[in-house]
Amino acid sequence: MTLAPEATSQIDAAALLTRQRAAFLREGAPSIQQRKDHLARLRAAVLAYRDELEAAVSADFGHRSRHETAVMELVGVIQSVDYLTRKLRRFMRPERRHVAFTYRSGKAYVEHQPKGVIGVMAPWNYPISLTLIPLATALAAGNRAMLKPSELTPRTSDVLKKLLTETFRPDEVAVVLGGPEVGAAFSGLPFDHLLFTGSTQVGRKVMKAASDHLVPVTLELGGKSPTVVARGQVNERTMGSIVFGKLANAGQTCVAPDYALVHEDDAEAFITQFDATVRRFYPAGPTSADYTSIVSHGHYERLKNLLEDARGKGARVIKAGNHPEHAANRVRTLAPTLVVSAGDEAAIMQEEIFGPILPVRTYRTMGEVIDYINARPRPLALYYFGNRDADGEELLARTTSGNVGINNTMMHVAQDDLPFGGIGPSGMGAYHGIEGFRAMSHAKGVFIQGRWNLPSLLRAPFGKFMDLALA
Ligand code: NAD
Repeated sequence: MTLAPEATSQIDAAALLTRQRAAFLREGAPSIQQRKDHLARLRAAVLAYRDELEAAVSADFGHRSRHETAVMELVGVIQSVDYLTRKLRRFMRPERRHVAFTYRSGKAYVEHQPKGVIGVMAPWNYPISLTLIPLATALAAGNRAMLKPSELTPRTSDVLKKLLTETFRPDEVAVVLGGPEVGAAFSGLPFDHLLFTGSTQVGRKVMKAASDHLVPVTLELGGKSPTVVARGQVNERTMGSIVFGKLANAGQTCVAPDYALVHEDDAEAFITQFDATVRRFYPAGPTSADYTSIVSHGHYERLKNLLEDARGKGARVIKAGNHPEHAANRVRTLAPTLVVSAGDEAAIMQEEIFGPILPVRTYRTMGEVIDYINARPRPLALYYFGNRDADGEELLARTTSGNVGINNTMMHVAQDDLPFGGIGPSGMGAYHGIEGFRAMSHAKGVFIQGRWNLPSLLRAPFGKFMDLALA
């Protein structure tokens, strides 16, 4: 009997996990020096494969400039590796904890021990960094790791597999390739922790599958991140930031500003300045060297349908820049587009957009903005452009989102020392910062008995010292 390729990789994945776990149990937690060595090897491999990685991503997307891949992915990976290397000693240091009076001569501390084998499932939109930053975190925390990149970026996955296979033994780091079926089997493996980055819909399935073996999960999901512009704050700085966040990777970013809430007095200025900024950033419109294609025909059609649906339901659809949408040398380019006054019934106000389209809604009061956001699922990011005045403070205090950016978009993700994650439907848990290291470590509490064993006085037969404990 011949097995289908999907089935073969499912068996391979289970066998790889067994092998990694056996190696972990045999060799124990790596020393700080070994962890630094793993990180240094990863860093060197990424730099050695830089050209191949950039070319593979561009081929997978149809087009993405090597500069965008360098800035949006490779810099992040190198920065994370360097951050983890620098912080490793502090992160690994056992933490002394308080000891109650009765146990005073003893010592309590927490040791952050590697969990063992970490599963990492990645999406296609930043196929390098969303695979390698979780990997760097897993290695820093002393684990082995198995990675399952997305089937939508097959060339990048092949390069990742090649560079990781050359750099690590299969019992240290392994890559499993395949689509949803392999993903489903992968998420059902008995890892010691599973970090999934992807859609909320698949995240639900992954968590269900992981629950069979009670595998703890970190879920990095998506959603609609609101961008609130305070009255009078439509200016060059605000628009530069919004256009950057919306159009980097053609909007195919989990933390892209999904829609904008703009004061009604500023709506026309917002539209005009959005257009002017797009022209400045992308002088040749969607055919500009730095403008990325939509990853697949399916997503391209999905985005066009969102626009059709919004138009059909009475929204104003405005293309920014006046350049041809289809260049002869490009595939799946979609012009930067504003959708003004789309109603709640439009699909574009319900689904995560994940493309270069920005709906703009107007408001009169900050109270309205807060109610609008709170009536919807908690987002991955919330952006606020304005001052920390009463309105700004109220918005920040009364809304809950994975992270917040003030007077910027997306820059919180680049802060290595900040936790990055969602809340509710936008995710569970976080990585980056010490939070990532801790998520992939087991916090083992240790108590060492001291010389004076006061609690022994409280053993049966209970007597006169009993009252001491409650004194
Ligand atoms: P996706 O959920 O379709 O796929 C993610 C991974 O899951 C892929 O490896 C895929 O092969 C696998 N998969 C697909 N179906 C599966 C199934 N039934 N069971 C198990 N695994 C399965 O997501 P995507 O389309 O690749 O990525 C886009 C989504 O990811 C967006 O919603 C975006 O917001 C989100 N995202 C989140 C973050 C974050 O850090 N929070 C970052 C990037 C993307």
